[in-house]
Amino acid sequence: MTENRRVILVTGGSGLVGQAIKTVVEEEKQQQTANSLNETWIFSGSKDGDLRNKSQTDALFERHKPTHVIHLAAMVGGLFHNMAHNLSFFRDNMAINDNVLSASYNNNVKKVVSCLSTCIFPDKTSYPIDETMVHNGAPHTSNYGYSYAKRMIDVLNRGYHEMHGCMFTSVIPCNVFGPHDNYNLESSHVIPALIRRMDDAMQKGDTTFTVMGSGKPLRQFIYSLDLAKLFIWVLRNYESIEPIILSVDEEDEVTISTVADMIKKAHNFTGEIVYDTTKADGQYKKTASNKKLRSLNKDFKFTPFEVAIHDTVAWFKENREHART
Ligand code: NDP
Repeated sequence: MTENRRVILVTGGSGLVGQAIKTVVEEEKQQQTANSLNETWIFSGSKDGDLRNKSQTDALFERHKPTHVIHLAAMVGGLFHNMAHNLSFFRDNMAINDNVLSASYNNNVKKVVSCLSTCIFPDKTSYPIDETMVHNGAPHTSNYGYSYAKRMIDVLNRGYHEMHGCMFTSVIPCNVFGPHDNYNLESSHVIPALIRRMDDAMQKGDTTFTVMGSGKPLRQFIYSLDLAKLFIWVLRNYESIEPIILSVDEEDEVTISTVADMIKKAHNFTGEIVYDTTKADGQYKKTASNKKLRSLNKDFKFTPFEVAIHDTVAWFKENREHART
């Protein structure tokens, strides 16, 4: 192994974001790019070790001896799953993050890029949200367990840097969607839930489709393959422990009803969409600024939202049998 050879362990490698990184890395490998020749990538899922458990985490690191880590593994879920399981979201994610970062330190990992989320920012805030606001106030009550556990990654990163000089950093993606998402009705995020439920409705021949909530909340969505490219860029080029928001532009924020209409178009669903306003909407908006990203990575082009939705619906239809449903 040469001095500069990198072994990159991706925790949560079997999930939505992990699989997107794998796709991008495999494309680079086909093209034999300079980076790909110098890097070995390992994608681990929960069957390779339960990261809530310290000895299983240590064993995973001992097995692969990574020089770099992209840390994605987490208990993840949509609004309704979060509301029902705040304690588990907090405890499981705190344990996973503490184990992964301590194993990284003990194994002299040169860089860790962990994952926060724009939904962990304070509920009461000014807009747009930026990287300096992570700890400014309480998160929305619907997902406080997930949010506080994610915020503690930033605390750990600062502590490891102060005490030991580690380059442990974090990125803050907005809502992600794409192939290999979780399409389970109990725990999925809004886009995979709508894609799956509309497919179910079409198979049953329904003429109306109900969206939970008013359809009015605003969200920024990033296509998983775009996020994957940005994650890899951060790993290779971003040398700061300060978090960086990885999001589409502010003007690309859309309402949930726009999302539903685009999914309807991609599915060729001819029925009517109705809104169940007795159901929770969650936080009204979480508009995040990608100014820092735009200043450091000027040429990045995001996939147009409609194209990404179209490709995701096509992937789901082709892979429904094997998808996480
Ligand atoms: P997924 O739910 O698709 O994947 C989660 C991954 O974590 C899977 O690989 C899963 O393994 C692994 N995992 C979960 N629990 C454990 C455990 N106890 N031990 C080991 N591995 C575990 O998540 P995403 O890809 O959507 O999310 C990736 C990261 O991005 C997360 O940190 C998430 O918080 C963050 N994020 C996600 C957003 C989104 O909209 N999806 C938005 C912003 C941030 P397996 O499947 O094998 O069980």
